[in-house]
Amino acid sequence: MMKLLLIGPPGAGKGTQASKLSEVFGIPAISTGDIFRENVKNQTPLGIEAKSYMDSGEYVPDELTNKLVRDRLQNPDCVNGFLLDGYPRTADQVQELDSILTETKSKLDAVVQLTADTDEVVRRLAKRAIDQGRSDDTEDVLRNRLHVYEEQTAPLISVYESRGLLVKVDGLGEIADVTRRITEALDSKNKN
Ligand code: AMP
Repeated sequence: MMKLLLIGPPGAGKGTQASKLSEVFGIPAISTGDIFRENVKNQTPLGIEAKSYMDSGEYVPDELTNKLVRDRLQNPDCVNGFLLDGYPRTADQVQELDSILTETKSKLDAVVQLTADTDEVVRRLAKRAIDQGRSDDTEDVLRNRLHVYEEQTAPLISVYESRGLLVKVDGLGEIADVTRRITEALDSKNKN
């Protein structure tokens, strides 16, 4: 039973680590970004609405994002826990997640902050733009995404820190090394 959040700037390796941690703990990795991209691809009403925000590097409005997560967490695969990758990203989303958890009488175990310096993040995202052809990895949009992250999401880290939930892990290095750092940090947190 493990309920985790993964927080960090675009390009810190959240998606990669989320899928590793999902295997390690046997819990679903839920990426709001992936769900939005899937909806854009299938041209669902949600996708059509989300696309313009995503393409400019802005956040999709809280109302849409919160509803999506609320629905997703009701899926039976979440009974043994979950890992949210890229949610919450705003103060309003933190509040919504708090409400969902209170309603289901459950609690987060930890919030993993993946750190990476800006130069490295920009380098990784430039590479991803080429490898995956993501429309929001172009330089202008990328700059805006980093700005929006700093403005709206970075402040949430101190909220979770003050709740004693934060586990800070260096996201630089080999994928397997980063995964090990995270699991070790979670282990030692659990012992305390
Ligand atoms: P990601 O793949 O997590 O970087 O997300 C890609 C894009 O999806 C973001 O730049 C936002 O436009 C949108 N998005 C993903 N998660 C959220 C969220 N929690 N709140 C608002 N927008 C989001």
